[in-house]
Amino acid sequence: MDGARVLVAGAGPSGLTLACGLAAQGIPVTVVDGAEGPSPTSRANILHARGVEVLTRTGAIGDLVERSLEPIGITMHAGAKPLVTMQFSEDDKEHFQALFISQALIEEELRRRLGELGVAVEWGRRVLGADQGGDGVTVAFEGGRSERFDWVVGCDGARSAVREAAGIAFPGVEVVEQFLLADVHADWDRERNRSAGWFHDDGLFLTIPMRDKEDDLWRLMASVEKSDRRLEPEDIVAAFEKLVPERSGDHGLRIKSAVWTSVFRVQRRLADDYRRGRILLAGDAAHIHSPIGGQGMNTGIGDAENLAWKLALVASGRAGEELLDTYGAERRPLATEVLKRTTDNTKLLVGDTAVRRVLRDLFFVPLLNLDAVQRRATRVNSQLWVTYRKGPLGGGGRGRGARPGDRIPDRDCTRADGAKTRLFDVLGPAWALLVPGAEGDDPQVPAVIRACLGDNVEVLHTDTDDLLLVRPDGHLAWRGTDPAEAAARLRDAFALGGGR
Ligand SMILES: Cc1cc2nc3c(=O)[nH]c(=O)nc-3n(C[C@H](O)[C@H](O)[C@H](O)COP(=O)(O)OP(=O)(O)OC[C@H]3O[C@@H](n4cnc5c(N)ncnc54)[C@H](O)[C@@H]3O)c2cc1C
Repeated sequence: MDGARVLVAGAGPSGLTLACGLAAQGIPVTVVDGAEGPSPTSRANILHARGVEVLTRTGAIGDLVERSLEPIGITMHAGAKPLVTMQFSEDDKEHFQALFISQALIEEELRRRLGELGVAVEWGRRVLGADQGGDGVTVAFEGGRSERFDWVVGCDGARSAVREAAGIAFPGVEVVEQFLLADVHADWDRERNRSAGWFHDDGLFLTIPMRDKEDDLWRLMASVEKSDRRLEPEDIVAAFEKLVPERSGDHGLRIKSAVWTSVFRVQRRLADDYRRGRILLAGDAAHIHSPIGGQGMNTGIGDAENLAWKLALVASGRAGEELLDTYGAERRPLATEVLKRTTDNTKLLVGDTAVRRVLRDLFFVPLLNLDAVQRRATRVNSQLWVTYRKGPLGGGGRGRGARPGDRIPDRDCTRADGAKTRLFDVLGPAWALLVPGAEGDDPQVPAVIRACLGDNVEVLHTDTDDLLLVRPDGHLAWRGTDPAEAAARLRDAFALGGGR
């Protein structure tokens, strides 16, 4: 397709998901990363249900489900005494559940999918600056080269050079002082599909099982007092060898080797804007927060999916630029909620003040024993509840059932030719028009809708009372009975058909 050239800066989970979405729509996309190659280590270790869903629509789920551990929950202790076991309850209405899977494997699958779409990551190309002018952005790379693109998306992580070049502020605060982390091969007689945590006066200690060939990889994480002393990997391993028995009362851990160690401070920061002209931000470049709850990568790939179809429509001239403003309007409120929730939970779990420790031990922990609270916690972390109902593309609709902006869960459908499929096998690159009744009743996409979306919409028969027009990211665009109304909505709210 002739069209605008998009630069995706950063080949982490957000950049790769975005690039897959753009390439699937035929948009010429260049993906660069400042690193010399993929990182073999992983920050994220939990992919919540929404992330599994997005990767499925992106065509990048591959064999991740088979390669993962299915998390069944987390047991919190005080000393050796178990206080509460939070079950990651199966949501029987949902097809997708959380996985214990490493970020490195997720990125590998995304790169595989991107390769299928004909795009390879250009490693060793660090963005230094980006200058907007006319109808494009001139990007300066390390080594002195510059190149011009029509659109640039900064998926270059917390210290985003793209964000800085665009002059977008990233205000925030420190949440808790310091965490030590070590991914270690170890002999340890513990369940391999359950995390565990210990409340202790010196701070929180958490462990999460990680899948590997030897089936003995564990993530260890502990909050510690801030220190400016530089810690080498062996210092961190030694710190855990001392700290684990002290905080957990468990003397059974035998560390064999460390795969990755890190010392990090938890900050909460949110970009003032997700777009400035022809520069956009996604993922950690736009928001960072505590890793407790495993929300960062999930939120980043959700940003990427939301942006991909919008940028594809604008870059191909089908929609006006104003559609891009709906990206920040839909995603920034979610990041605000995630920042608040992860900050509150982290402070409570770490128990950084005496008042919080009392609150945690007397009120929070007993509440966690309740089934209803556990189901709610699984649901909240899953991000399956995300709705854009209150955003610029939401609202309207009538009666009971989904409203524009709401997420539409995966479901059985029948194509116009009678073939069985699932909704999410069609979405991603395509939109779907769900129509009631048996196959063959209405095989044509109403011409009015095709006039806005071109061939990129498929009619699927399913169990529904109304016509449902579903966006490529699985949210409802319109619900009703008259397709002309849908077309009017696409023109007015989505700026479709009014592109340059
Ligand atoms: C200890 C820890 C545990 C976590 N656990 C979880 C979890 O279980 N679940 C979860 O959902 N999230 C988790 N997170 C958060 C998650 O790791 C991040 O949110 C996620 O990596 C963000 O993805 P991203 O693609 O936006 O950015 P990144 O993964 O940071 O990728 C940015 C990419 O940009 C590249 N880059 C940087 N600067 C430049 C430049 N100037 N030019 C070109 N390229 C550049 C980098 O090399 C990198 O490849 C955790 C985080 C931490 C610290």
